[in-house]
Amino acid sequence: MNNTKYIFVLGGVASSLGKGIISASLAKLLQARGFTVTIQKLDPYINVDPGTLNPYEHGECYVTEDGAETDLDLGHYERFLNVRTSQANNVTTGRIYQSVIQKERRGDYLGETVQVIPHITDEIKYSIQLLGNDGNYDFVITEVGGTVGDIESLPYIEAIRQLRWELGKSVVTIHLTLIPYLRAAGELKTKPTQHSVRALLESGVQADIIVCRTEKHITDSMRSKIALFCNVEQKAVIESIDAESIYDIPLLMMEEKLDQVVLEKLGMPMGSEPDMKRWNEFLFRLKNPKEEVTIGLVGKYVELKDAYKSINEAFVHAGTTHQCKVSVRLVHSEYVNEQNVAEKLAGLDGVLVAPGFGERGIEGKIISIRYARENKIPFLGICLGMQCAVVEFGRNVLGYTDAHSTEMNSKTPYPVIDIMASQKKITSKGGTMRLGIYPCTLKPGTKVFEAYLKTDIKERHRHRYEFNNKYLEAYENAGMMAVGINPKDNLVEVVELTDHPWFVGVQFHPEYQSTVANPHPLFEGFVKAAIDYKQKVQ
Ligand code: GLN
Repeated sequence: MNNTKYIFVLGGVASSLGKGIISASLAKLLQARGFTVTIQKLDPYINVDPGTLNPYEHGECYVTEDGAETDLDLGHYERFLNVRTSQANNVTTGRIYQSVIQKERRGDYLGETVQVIPHITDEIKYSIQLLGNDGNYDFVITEVGGTVGDIESLPYIEAIRQLRWELGKSVVTIHLTLIPYLRAAGELKTKPTQHSVRALLESGVQADIIVCRTEKHITDSMRSKIALFCNVEQKAVIESIDAESIYDIPLLMMEEKLDQVVLEKLGMPMGSEPDMKRWNEFLFRLKNPKEEVTIGLVGKYVELKDAYKSINEAFVHAGTTHQCKVSVRLVHSEYVNEQNVAEKLAGLDGVLVAPGFGERGIEGKIISIRYARENKIPFLGICLGMQCAVVEFGRNVLGYTDAHSTEMNSKTPYPVIDIMASQKKITSKGGTMRLGIYPCTLKPGTKVFEAYLKTDIKERHRHRYEFNNKYLEAYENAGMMAVGINPKDNLVEVVELTDHPWFVGVQFHPEYQSTVANPHPLFEGFVKAAIDYKQKVQ
């Protein structure tokens, strides 16, 4: 018999309260007590996955090892737990309906009227239990996107209501709400929380635990008031105060005993205290930096801090390795030109050119790369950033006038980046890129080898275009070397410059694999190069 327990995390009052971080923090505490845990995100939108979404909508698209394009919260789960997620960890309404409609067309429901209840809710329940059914996890934490009261969340809440009924004591529901502080009144207010818990109750789901996001400490009398009005025990009213870093939250939740209350409610043995030794060491290094470097992140989504989430977090992780604070300065590539590049990139110890799609801001990226190359500033180009480095080198070193990627200019005389052969016939956009993990062989004696300390690596991908091998010899003769190759398809995965202290372009996305327990070696190498550069120029 399968003993997996299910924990649901639902949000109320407002969005952006940090359900993903609360879920990941609870998972971390349970994991640190010796349990196996996975986390799943249910997204109520109709897109089948977020791969076709503009980052302005929901932030970065996170790519899993199995090539699923998913919500950025999965990145938090992996970074906190150091456990890989997969397609099963992110389910959208689009995916649920797609699967139900496929079944209907196949004739699986012959004779029946296909309805939200029971067919859609059954499919949701199936997707939730899929992770628990194989018996690999003691806990499946399921975070429901959106806010209680949204029309589009209703089938999910109904599915949770049914599961609570069917699985009884194996289910616990956490409701994350906001306790706003009214400055004029000088008071924290619990009324929105009461309303939100009531809205959830109207759908048949009683919250077992209420996590209160707040900017000021909540008093005992507020806890008892929330407990009384919301039908929960006082100890199940948990404070989640604003923190300096997201990595503080597991410890704050431990102080509030969130994990203990969850275990008690599920009738699970408490066991020993969570072993947070490594986490605490990480936090100590994070909070006591001995030096600081500034890295410029050149991209076109700089107005939105979630657009480059994994890159920012990878810098946090890699910084702790060197006990170095990495300040990331966002540089809007659309506004960089030949005249202002020195001013825009002034004072930087490293330049990272971001991944991306399409024409907007591309010339600013290329100009920034030229500046980093000529001024010997450490450089890391990721995916489109690597492709721009190839274009820049072609134009300014090899003299290939108007060299480009065929993504931006299909008529370029020098298509140094071109669409992959396997992509040429694909017309539909969703889930059709080269996605997920692929092997890569590194050349010894290179910067990347120095970082990874091995030749065989695996990294995640999300692209359609690649280095055009027709030009490889010319590039290598001029000093841009292909130092990482996909062994099967011979695709160039990494380029480096011989005549530069640290200039690396990678076709893959190292940022997706960086975790608190395992900061990514390439980011560690880049931060180290930035530290060395800063010492030299000072
Ligand atoms: N647009 C480029 C491609 O599809 C790069 C993609 C990316 O940066 N993720 O190849």
